[in-house]
Amino acid sequence: MDTDVVISGAGPAGLLLASELALAGVRVRVLERLTARHEQSRALTLHPRSIEILDLRGIAGRFLDAGHTLPGWHFASLPTRLDFSSLETRHGYTLFLAQAQTERLLEERARELGVEVAYGHEVVSVAQDENGVDVVVTGPDGEATLRAAYVVGCDGARSRVRESAGIGFPGSDTTVTGMLGDFTTVDAAAIAEGGGPLMIVPLSDGATRFVVVDPDRMHVPTSEPVTFEEFRAAVVRMTGQSFGIAEPRWLSRFGNATRLAETYRAGRVFLAGDAAHIHFPAAGQGLNVGLQDAMNLGWKLAAEINGWAPPGLLDTYHAERHPVGKSVTDNTLSQVLLLELLLVPQYQRPVAALRDLLNDLLGIPEVNARLAGLVTALGTTYPSPDDPLIGTRMPDLDLDGPGQRVSSLLHTGKFAYLTSGAAPAVPADRVTVAALPEKWEAEEVLVRPDGHIAWVRRPGSAPADLSALSAWITA
Ligand SMILES: Cc1cc2nc3c(=O)[nH]c(=O)nc-3n(C[C@H](O)[C@H](O)[C@H](O)COP(=O)(O)OP(=O)(O)OC[C@H]3O[C@@H](n4cnc5c(N)ncnc54)[C@H](O)[C@@H]3O)c2cc1C
Repeated sequence: MDTDVVISGAGPAGLLLASELALAGVRVRVLERLTARHEQSRALTLHPRSIEILDLRGIAGRFLDAGHTLPGWHFASLPTRLDFSSLETRHGYTLFLAQAQTERLLEERARELGVEVAYGHEVVSVAQDENGVDVVVTGPDGEATLRAAYVVGCDGARSRVRESAGIGFPGSDTTVTGMLGDFTTVDAAAIAEGGGPLMIVPLSDGATRFVVVDPDRMHVPTSEPVTFEEFRAAVVRMTGQSFGIAEPRWLSRFGNATRLAETYRAGRVFLAGDAAHIHFPAAGQGLNVGLQDAMNLGWKLAAEINGWAPPGLLDTYHAERHPVGKSVTDNTLSQVLLLELLLVPQYQRPVAALRDLLNDLLGIPEVNARLAGLVTALGTTYPSPDDPLIGTRMPDLDLDGPGQRVSSLLHTGKFAYLTSGAAPAVPADRVTVAALPEKWEAEEVLVRPDGHIAWVRRPGSAPADLSALSAWITA
């Protein structure tokens, strides 16, 4: 084998996955088709669960220092905002950070762990057999074949890995397009008065992002480049003013094609991020879901390669993450419908009524929290019939010792075993043991490296032995 894992694509999902594998001592090669990183940013948001997972590895501060936060976000641009501040998390806000910055910080972390990103290397095809995968790559020195135990396609919407592995990508094509423009020059006073139906977001480098879905231009295909004149005319048509936009740095058109891979695993080939799911960027979720895919897959693949994964562990990646992909594609489809139909004359009145109704419902704290849980991914659980706590996120409880929290136990990427009594003989190279605060719902809890609860013992039930943990940790 040339390496344990080849990752195709150095976007957010590929970079985080590479770090997770390297943290567990796995040999990983990241191949990136581009010769240098994009300076433009599609995504601007990191939501609470993404910040939490960065916190689980002790690196959230780098991202927080580089961006700015807002205490909530929106669903389908309804006026009543989703309130993240009351959610059970230390990170109840949206972090605004341009994708280029997020990627730079993720790559910095991967390099610290010894990962090299091979820019200018394009994956052409993958072919697997019982023992490994042959990956054909073209690069500056021509074509070569790499042999790896596993391959992960983190190579975006048009994933070559997905195609080459024959994994279907059913869904729907683009019917609605929007435009984004980053402008170096704007009229800040006009923006302060409000942008009406436009989304206007200041970027950390001083430019301003405008996002427009213009009824007159919403059926223009994504293949047609956006011109400054077109963009400016759309802004004026929709708001009656131009906001002084000038000096466009980047203009782009995006669409609502929505697809979900049939499977996230085909033998030795896995998919994560946009290679597995695409959708309209409603409420800014795609990059976030990709990071969460990577966090779910990394430790499982590492366990398999390091020889201690229980049977079936790798299959839980598809079992756990595919429903999340389904849920995010569903919620973005609903959001697009609530926006798209508002722009179609015969539906304007009923859809406005529906939006008013939903907006009222968002005023009910429980409803608001439910949708916030969806958009932030704090509501993501991997349910188990054994106990309702299993599969939920472990709360980041304070523990004994200065600055000690559950998240600090997970910085090394091991499991955490928290107990209010004596711990069984868990393997120390894979599990960190700590005392559980007295007042919590369980007496013992095993937390997975991705921060979800693997197993609990409730008060009154028999003490654990290793067999109770064998679904997650082999002896
Ligand atoms: C207008 C717009 C706004 C958005 N806003 C948000 C937002 O605010 N929040 C949010 O969470 N998401 C947002 N998204 C979605 C987000 O940008 C994507 O979900 C995210 O980039 C996916 O990350 P990824 O790592 O899966 O894939 P990508 O970022 O697409 O990275 C894939 C990488 O693989 C490389 N690659 C492709 N093919 C090959 C190959 N054959 N060999 C080697 N390398 C290859 C590519 O060059 C690329 O670097 C937005 C999307 C759009 C279009």
